[in-house]
Amino acid sequence: RAATTDDDTIVGVATAVVGAVGGVAIVRLSGSDARAIGGRVFRRAGGATRASASANAANAFDESHKATYGVVVDGDGEIIDEVIALAFIAPRSYTAEDVVELHCHGGAVCVQRAMARCLDEGARLARNGEFTLRAFLNGRLDLTQAEAVHALVSAKTTAAADSALAAMRGGLTTPVSEARRACVDLLAELEARLDFDDEMVPLDVRAIEAKAAGARETIRKVLTTAKRGALLETGVTVAIVGRPNVGKSRLLNALTRSERSIVTSREGTTRDVVEASVNIGGLPATLLDTAGIRSETDDEVEKIGVERSRAAAAGADIVVLVVDAERGWVSEDSAIWQSEIANNARARGSSVLVVNKTDIADASNATPPPEVLESFSTVVHVSAATGDNLEHLEHAIVRTVSGGEVDAEGGAWAANQRQAEALQNALDSLDRLRDTIAADMPLDFWTIDLREAAFALGSVTGDDVTEDVLDTIFERFCIGK
Ligand code: GDP
Ligand code: ZN
Repeated sequence: RAATTDDDTIVGVATAVVGAVGGVAIVRLSGSDARAIGGRVFRRAGGATRASASANAANAFDESHKATYGVVVDGDGEIIDEVIALAFIAPRSYTAEDVVELHCHGGAVCVQRAMARCLDEGARLARNGEFTLRAFLNGRLDLTQAEAVHALVSAKTTAAADSALAAMRGGLTTPVSEARRACVDLLAELEARLDFDDEMVPLDVRAIEAKAAGARETIRKVLTTAKRGALLETGVTVAIVGRPNVGKSRLLNALTRSERSIVTSREGTTRDVVEASVNIGGLPATLLDTAGIRSETDDEVEKIGVERSRAAAAGADIVVLVVDAERGWVSEDSAIWQSEIANNARARGSSVLVVNKTDIADASNATPPPEVLESFSTVVHVSAATGDNLEHLEHAIVRTVSGGEVDAEGGAWAANQRQAEALQNALDSLDRLRDTIAADMPLDFWTIDLREAAFALGSVTGDDVTEDVLDTIFERFCIGK
């Protein structure tokens, strides 16, 4: 590993500090001096004298995972705060180092004074993500797990949190490590042959190709989760398009559930759409209602509806075409389908047909021609008025964005952008290996491709990672994490 951990004892506030008001705030020390420093700033309650109390303080940190009630004292022995102190003795701690936690009263003053005391006694202020970095450097977490800690802490939806938890449990590492192991094994075999060619049996090229193909397939599968990973981070944009009066606005309101309250009017902007932020099946989503907020009896709207739809649909991840079961499929629907879906590379394969108003008419009235029908990933029959089948629409949207892929274990983990780039590099290297073998190039060239693939995979798991990469990963963390 490129980076090495220094043996400073670090201190940080482990709880959220924004606003700095809360019942409890945790000041956390980690490092070889954590217990000694803790012993100097903490005094166990009930000590008869100062001397006996501070002797007791050291004892408070002799036992791992045990809470002790007491006080934090300043340099003169004056009480700064009442706290609960806990030691986590190495390696049974978050960082795998000795860790001491002081559970102070929440609020800026208590925390700042306790922190200042720890700094006075020799701790150093922790940098962003340094606790987690240490956990990684000490082998307590691999790199994907460390990144998942950050993803979990910053998750804004349950889907993002679930995905981070699955990655923290090693869901992403397992296949990547497996593929890396295959590359490293092949590399060892080829290098041995380069050194001692005479003494070895002929190379089993088929077996090598098969093993490399297996690794490639594993990587490809992991890469398919990246799209979902990106959407978990950035959210998905869903454009609701369709003729006037098919029920787009009502559908949007039904999906947001609280009438108008989170619908923000964007009238007068060039796109002239209504936008709402919702949580669809755990995914952060922005819904765009494209036919605007003006009176739908206005002929003008009818005329420019298609144009507006086009602008919104062009930038959307998913296009939902709404049609009206009562009026059935009409030529205007075909026109909108043609411009928003058939002629929109992004929307092809990422569009859902919604037949609305099933409370008053039969959905089969609005069945489009077969070539139109097959362009949708799903068809859903709903009633925006009664809310009937809306959950199916939500599922259809989630399925459509995740490309219909759910991994074998049902795990929800997903590769983030950094990981996806590295995985793509590994895949490219293995593609080159395939060509190198096919072109009957010398073994040295095979090893170059394999080494690149192994390195790219190692940068995902953290087995091979440069200090620069670690810096960029951990500087996104907050202080104290
Ligand atoms: P938009 O022009 O596509 O946005 O359509 P609106 O949402 O404004 O709806 C047009 C009309 O259809 C309104 O009178 C709605 O109340 C009605 N509507 C929308 N959805 C439904 C539905 O599911 N069932 C019934 N019966 N009426 C609906
Ligand atoms: Zn509308």
